[in-house]
Parts: sequence; structure tokens; C-alpha cells
Amino acid sequence: MTVKRNTWQKDAVRHALSESAGFVSAQQLHQVLHAHGSTIGLATVYRALADLLLAGDADSITSTDGQLLYRACGTSHHHHLVCRECGLTVEIDADQVEAWASGIGGANGFTDVSHTIELFGLCRGCRGL
Ligand SMILES: [Zn+2]
Ligand SMILES: [Zn+2]
Ligand SMILES: [Zn+2]
Repeated sequence: MTVKRNTWQKDAVRHALSESAGFVSAQQLHQVLHAHGSTIGLATVYRALADLLLAGDADSITSTDGQLLYRACGTSHHHHLVCRECGLTVEIDADQVEAWASGIGGANGFTDVSHTIELFGLCRGCRGL
């Protein structure tokens, strides 16, 4: 039998993550939770995020300045177009990338090839349009 510790904290983190428009850092999420009256600790936020990643309930990317960012994502394989100013995120399909990745893997005798590709740019809002 497994003992479920601190599930409510994980649920709170999952909820805060699903409310954010794009990728957020653990610190940002921690601030959001505190703004909503939660007393959850930063270490617990990190632990909950690690659990969500393992369970496939969240995606993580490394931002252009090397920070680990999190987002509640669709479960199927996809890529992200991320605004490097505000974190606004669009999920994108990239059929050509999938074909290229498996093709180049196969050409070199590899199977089960995985990849991580994120696109970063400036969204309309951040360009002041
Ligand atoms: Zn995603
Ligand atoms: Zn933006
Ligand atoms: Zn892909």
C-alpha cells in the first residue's frame, strides 16, 4: 500500500500551473500560490513539479537564460513556441521535424530516437502591437 502524502499540495501546484498562460519557473509558481493565500514552501513546489513531470502531467523547458520552466501540457508529443519576454506559449505540431528526426536516426542505424525542440521569440504583445 502506498501512502499518499501531501496530495493537496500537489493538486494546488497542478492547479496553479494549469492557470498560467505559458511556461513559469518554480519561484513564479510559488509566488502565485502565496498570492492566493497558500503557505506552501518553495521546496514543496519543486518536489510537486518533479512528481508532475515524472507522471507526464507537466512539461519542462530550459529558458534562453538557463532557467528551468514548467507548464501543464497536452500528453501527446508536441513542441513549443515560447515568448522569451512574457512566457506566452503556443503548442505546435512539427510533422517535418518528426519525419526528419526519425529519418536521420534510421539513416545512422538508431531506433527509438527522441528529441526536444523549443522555439523562442517575441510575441505580438511584447512587440507592442
Ligand atoms: Zn506543451
Ligand atoms: Zn510576450
Ligand atoms: Zn517532435
